[in-house]
Amino acid sequence: MPAPTEPAPTDALIVGAGPAALALAVELRARHHSVRIVAPHAPQAFPATYGAWLDDLPAWAQACATHVWTDVRVYTGPQPTPLLRPYALLDNTRFLHALLDRAGPLTWTVGTVTHAVPGPDGWTVHTREGHALSARFVVDAAGHAGSLRRPQHPGGAALQTAYGLTARFERPPSAPGAMVWMDYRAPHGPGETPTFLYAMHLGGDTYFVEETSLIARPAPTRVALRARLHERLRAQGTPPGEILHEEWVAFPMNAAAPDPHGPLAFGAAGGMVHPISGFQVAGALRAAPLVAHAAADALRAGRDPHAAAWAALWPPERRAAREVHLLGVQALLNLPPDQLAPFFRAFFALPPAAWHAFLDPDTPPGALARTMLRLFAALPGRTRLPLARAALATPGVSGRALRSAMNAPTASAHPGPVPARQAVGMSDDTRSEKAVLNHEDLNQTETIQSGMQGATGNADANGLDPDVDLGERVEELRENLRPLTEQK
Ligand SMILES: Cc1cc2nc3c(=O)[nH]c(=O)nc-3n(C[C@H](O)[C@H](O)[C@H](O)COP(=O)(O)OP(=O)(O)OC[C@H]3O[C@@H](n4cnc5c(N)ncnc54)[C@H](O)[C@@H]3O)c2cc1C
Repeated sequence: MPAPTEPAPTDALIVGAGPAALALAVELRARHHSVRIVAPHAPQAFPATYGAWLDDLPAWAQACATHVWTDVRVYTGPQPTPLLRPYALLDNTRFLHALLDRAGPLTWTVGTVTHAVPGPDGWTVHTREGHALSARFVVDAAGHAGSLRRPQHPGGAALQTAYGLTARFERPPSAPGAMVWMDYRAPHGPGETPTFLYAMHLGGDTYFVEETSLIARPAPTRVALRARLHERLRAQGTPPGEILHEEWVAFPMNAAAPDPHGPLAFGAAGGMVHPISGFQVAGALRAAPLVAHAAADALRAGRDPHAAAWAALWPPERRAAREVHLLGVQALLNLPPDQLAPFFRAFFALPPAAWHAFLDPDTPPGALARTMLRLFAALPGRTRLPLARAALATPGVSGRALRSAMNAPTASAHPGPVPARQAVGMSDDTRSEKAVLNHEDLNQTETIQSGMQGATGNADANGLDPDVDLGERVEELRENLRPLTEQK
């Protein structure tokens, strides 16, 4: 087959067509730069189910929500803790079209990128199909495995894995009208690997329920999580009826900040997944203007756009914050299974501004470290010990975090504590659940690709349906909030 002829260079070339790639394309186009997208597929709705805190999304992306919940809760014991922070589920088709409309004309090459070669005026990117595509600014936004750059995972990749399904239910598997961010109750009995339920009421008798392992190394397999979800649903007397859609999630949570050399890594390829929540989409939307602005300035001035964009994305503060977050990953990995619920009970009992800031990728390291110290002080002794061990294992990072915590401004913008209900701890029965991935199974590319294939994000949520019976929804909400408002 003859090699395709070399097309004209563009100002920017972005590898990948996920939310991070397109968010950056929008911002570069807004600064009048020509942009080529290279992906193995034509524009297509993103395959994963994307949720985000509503206030983390820019206004135009909020308009892509197919469902917004104001009743958002966690269970770290029998009683729910209200999070009082609206949560959105994105309609991926709407989200894709909003990004494409905002970008305007893009040059789109269908191909799989294999490597890139530096030249006097940028890079030439090569594809498996034989394209050689030149651009002055090249971005690797190819997702968790990257394409031109291999993300680094200190100590090995620690994965979030989850198995979920959208189904009709005769009896509600979680509170009607609510979004359950984390339910650590275990009606099916505890397992060695702690998992929680992530659940959304999508309207009528339809729910999305997902058995999730927040972070583990090695991580529970799809088979184990599927079995556990069905056990949970059976044990609480709410087996699924018709299953409309299944989702398998597997991605690393602990990629380090990339180094400044070569093409810019952005999105999941660029260490931008939040290591505690696994969120990335809202963060990429927020970072894209900053990165595009720096790259555009450099392109205009004849400077290296990669160095400029990297410096804008990873100022020393943000790199230090990433280190503190990765310390948090190590702490979570060190926690005995039965201590995760008490950990999150203390976490969500922090003033809302403190836990919001902890989950925000832009929070400076000093504020993060202060929150960690505050959390540490609030934890039961049994939970503290493994966390202290994690901190002592990396004295350099811990020392820096401590110093920045002490130097951080003490005047707190945090409102007073919200009355979060203290829930009863879970059983510490650590009955063995051996169904975990072996180290040999941790071929990231394979796991991640199958994870992405598992999702379609096509949940037919109708929470904002104009035909919905508002009286019924208000009654549902009142019913759900009753345990939170009743005086004991
Ligand atoms: C199932 C699932 C659910 C998730 N849920 C959430 C959530 O609710 N909220 C949240 O914030 N985050 C979530 N995440 C985490 C993260 O935000 C997503 O993985 C997100 O899709 C990452 O966006 P991205 O644009 O960086 O990469 P991706 O969305 O993975 O996009 C990568 C793009 O690169 C292309 N590509 C890959 N290799 C090559 C190559 N060699 N050449 C050319 N193109 C290539 C792919 O085809 C794709 O177009 C989830 C992840 C998974 C797997």
